[in-house]
Amino acid sequence: MSIFHYQNNTLFAEDVSIAQLASTQPTPFYCYSSRAFSQHYQQFKAAFASLPNTLCYAMKANSNQAILKLLAQQGAGADVVSLGELQRAIEAGFPAEKIVFSGVAKSAAEIKAALKLNIHCFNVESEPELRHISAIAQSMNKIAPVSLRINPDVDPATHAKISTGKSSDKFGIPLKNALPIYQLAADLPAIEVCGIDMHIGSQITKLSAYDEAIGLLVTLANTLKEQGIAIKHFNFGGGLGVAYKDSDSDQQTLLAQYAEIIKKHACALNCHYIFEPGRFIAANAGILVTQVRYVKPVEEKCFVIVDAAMNDLIRPTLYEAYHQIASVEQANEKSETQIVDVVGPVCETGDYLALNRKLAPVSEGDLLVLHSAGAYGAVQSSTYNSRPLISEVLVDGDRWHTIRQSPSIEQLINLDSIPNWL
Ligand SMILES: *Cc1c(COP(=O)(O)O)cnc(C)c1O
Repeated sequence: MSIFHYQNNTLFAEDVSIAQLASTQPTPFYCYSSRAFSQHYQQFKAAFASLPNTLCYAMKANSNQAILKLLAQQGAGADVVSLGELQRAIEAGFPAEKIVFSGVAKSAAEIKAALKLNIHCFNVESEPELRHISAIAQSMNKIAPVSLRINPDVDPATHAKISTGKSSDKFGIPLKNALPIYQLAADLPAIEVCGIDMHIGSQITKLSAYDEAIGLLVTLANTLKEQGIAIKHFNFGGGLGVAYKDSDSDQQTLLAQYAEIIKKHACALNCHYIFEPGRFIAANAGILVTQVRYVKPVEEKCFVIVDAAMNDLIRPTLYEAYHQIASVEQANEKSETQIVDVVGPVCETGDYLALNRKLAPVSEGDLLVLHSAGAYGAVQSSTYNSRPLISEVLVDGDRWHTIRQSPSIEQLINLDSIPNWL
């Protein structure tokens, strides 16, 4: 049975009725499935069972403490990109030796904290960063384990805002500069070269980009070996796409094809492997539940105005992302559909959740869900228009828990401070 499914025409997350949840939770809210998170993690691990590997969950996809704890208990490691994420990972129980630190702009405080904790490695993205890490490590009498993130200049054929492996993207060290920077890393006093790293983008479904990028990096790893620089781990990054539409290839098929590409290259390497999936684990483990406030037909179309907005889920606005929309109460199959824009209350024309979508007729008070909202949803939310962050609920079988409570407006206001001259 699918995780989010209908029983007697009403939507369930595992064994919990969404309508019932919505009667105890103010809408909008995120609802996640424990089973889906575990399943996606286990599926990914199973696909690479024949390779020595660590799966470092890219926690920027969804970094709620409960989700992190769930994945840490499954045995996952973490890919962190800030001091905040590092602290969250440690508090959730990820062992430091399974934490990798990515990002183009690591601060001195971040580097120090990570060195103190003895994380697995820094994914280094530039020569100045490498020198900075070396200097800090030296001052602490530590040796910093590093992997260089190489930008292979390949086109992952994804949305421009989530492409990270082209030479025009800010990420990584250009492949053509890799050899001298590896040499420098090997020569710097407080650096231990341990790996090679890539992350070429997100929501990648054209897997040939991986094939091409990994091929280039395997050649580099072999050259490094000839020069006496041993690579202990190869980090493939994240980015594997998931299904947002019924017509997308399902994520199991993509995973199988991806695993084939990885295994083809891995035989030439013979080292430890690291993966950093985020979206694959989280996206289809969550939905956004929202309620219809008004239905407003205008001349050429109809607006369905709901209580969730771009500040709760910015993906449609930011990436032109598609989220499937469904009614919590399943419509009669024979009911006529209409074309609608599903929009939120925020005062921006860009505040929409779906455009030109075929939907069965809805009325005020109806509950709708946006599917595939578990990744890059809650984590990217803001309080724009003074809308408090919405709550997050985690379901496990027939039990559920509010894993983040929506703060009150009073709490939101109290974050500000008025100077005494006013
Ligand atoms: C965002 C990110 C990931 C995860 O990407 P997904 O598309 O969510 O799998 C992995 N590694 C790095 C360095 C990232 O920045």
